[in-house]
Amino acid sequence: MSSRNTAYVFEPGAHTRLPVSQDEADGKELLFPVNNIYCVGQNYAAHAREIGTDPKRATPVFFRKPSDSLLPACDAHGASCQVDLAYPPQTTELHHEVELVVALKDGGRNIPRAHAVSCIFGYGVGLDMTRRDLQTAARKAGMPWDMAKGFDNAAPCSALAPVSHCGHPERGVIELTVNREPRQKADLSDLIWSVPEIITFLSRFATLRPGDLIFTGTPEGVSPVYRGDRLEGRINGVGEIAVVIV
Ligand code: MN
Repeated sequence: MSSRNTAYVFEPGAHTRLPVSQDEADGKELLFPVNNIYCVGQNYAAHAREIGTDPKRATPVFFRKPSDSLLPACDAHGASCQVDLAYPPQTTELHHEVELVVALKDGGRNIPRAHAVSCIFGYGVGLDMTRRDLQTAARKAGMPWDMAKGFDNAAPCSALAPVSHCGHPERGVIELTVNREPRQKADLSDLIWSVPEIITFLSRFATLRPGDLIFTGTPEGVSPVYRGDRLEGRINGVGEIAVVIV
């Protein structure tokens, strides 16, 4: 097809991007172009039990959020800052889920475990915001629960810490407070499936690509939030995130 006969119906939107956290020594500002957002369900046993499911299973549970649900919770230079999240429609039970986010710089299909870590660019702190009432009703009815997980600003995420700065965190505190009250607190070593295992399993279902983000699951303590609440998440050695519900 000749390019002189093609035109966009409307101007394509800007690619979804996430800033890379800055190290004073680096100087340059790096942006990570986001492709797909994958999520792992029930990856901490105590959280699986609190939502009424059995944590013992043979393979991880995966789902996706639309990439335009990403809410970068940092400034354009990668410095953490507080961002507003508008309370979404069609719910009266919006829940927080603080999660370690993995950012891929490489992908593929059927990625062997030994190769998985070499696909990782860096890590962030994300919030898998969930319309829990919709999810619970859909699960009871045996219906899909995409609309419980995919909505505007459903995926706030901190700036990304590159592996060159944070390594591959396998242990360390992951926590979330609401209005400074502790709600979620666990250790990354509590993950049922490790990050390399997640990449290996997921690459059997989908071709992973550079730019993909993987939200790796939340520990126990999920709870509803309301307008005016300030959520602060932190993962030791990775970063922090601050979101206000408006
Ligand atoms: Mn989650």
